[in-house]
Amino acid sequence: MSVDPIDGVPGGGGPTHLPPLVDTSEPVHPLLVIISGPSGVGKDTIIEALQRRGHLPAYHYVVTCTTRARRPGEIDDVSYNFLSVPEFLALREAGELLEANEVHGNWYGTPKAGVRDALDRGRHAILKIDVQGAEVVKSRVPEALLIFVVPPSLETLVEHLKARRTETAEQLELRQRNAAIELARKDDYDYVVVNEEGRVDVTAERIEQIIAQEERRASRRVVTV
Ligand code: 5GP
Repeated sequence: MSVDPIDGVPGGGGPTHLPPLVDTSEPVHPLLVIISGPSGVGKDTIIEALQRRGHLPAYHYVVTCTTRARRPGEIDDVSYNFLSVPEFLALREAGELLEANEVHGNWYGTPKAGVRDALDRGRHAILKIDVQGAEVVKSRVPEALLIFVVPPSLETLVEHLKARRTETAEQLELRQRNAAIELARKDDYDYVVVNEEGRVDVTAERIEQIIAQEERRASRRVVTV
């Protein structure tokens, strides 16, 4: 699929008299939507903005699992399903994770049950995962819609990571290095959206447009998870 890096929508904006890109008589399919991008790009803020805009019950945000320590303000089973390393590995061993990845020294994984549950109820399953995890999900579920969020520049991203003060100097350096590698992979995604400074609502709106455009495509119907 071609990607317009300016506004993240194939074919771009264009004049308003053009016919709609999708046939609105087609049924809506629940999608598996992966929102990915480097650490610090603002994925959490984007999800919060999407939640504020109110899509319930159409969107279901899948809670993922992690072995990382809980940060102040995070709630178990809401922010993440916080697990010990043995608990996490047992879940993975039992085949209950769609993907599992060690990110910045901690384990993260997507529970199959959360995704299935959303799709079975006709809701879009929204996943917020790292770049490697996104690639694994896409290889296992080719119908998944991959949206890659990028910063206006690598410098902006580094500033964000520093400002949030949640990482040690060593962790920060690791995340910076990973970000540069991850940004180089943006061509593997279906859509690329630039998260401009202070314009998270615009980013959320673009993501909604993309989902609205894709939800009627039969090729996006998830066969199995
Ligand atoms: P953080 O520790 O800052 O919450 O998250 C670190 C990275 O892990 C982020 O890029 C986040 O999107 C990603 N992440 C969260 N949940 C999962 C998951 O289930 N699988 C994978 N692969 N990455 C995840």
